[in-house]
Amino acid sequence: MDNKSLLKLAENARKNSYVPYSKFRVGAALLTKNGKVYTGCNIECASFGGTNCAERTAIYKAISEGEKEIEAIAIASDNSEKDESTYPCGICRQVIIEFGPDIRIITGYTQGKIIECKISDLIPNYFSGSDFKEIE
Ligand SMILES: [Zn+2]
Repeated sequence: MDNKSLLKLAENARKNSYVPYSKFRVGAALLTKNGKVYTGCNIECASFGGTNCAERTAIYKAISEGEKEIEAIAIASDNSEKDESTYPCGICRQVIIEFGPDIRIITGYTQGKIIECKISDLIPNYFSGSDFKEIE
């Protein structure tokens, strides 16, 4: 699946967002290495700590269905229509890189500019499971 098609799925997923507080809709579309797609949207909660981003919604759906290898995640927000890219927040960057530093991040707008980078570009010197080995 090409970047534009994956981003289009993220734009569509954005429509399911539950955002009564911020009114800021975000959609994500996750592509596994075996070609399956899982979408997600942001879901807000009056107890703000319970809020979940679109990217993590898509990841948790994929992992809970048995997926382990993520190829790419496309992200679209309400800013996308203004041709402004939306990148993952800090928590999502940490969760995404848990599944590999080479996961491609695609953002932008299908009717405008589409940007691609690697998650490792967005979170250098990240904390990982290998840090636990230093404790022994
Ligand atoms: Zn996030």
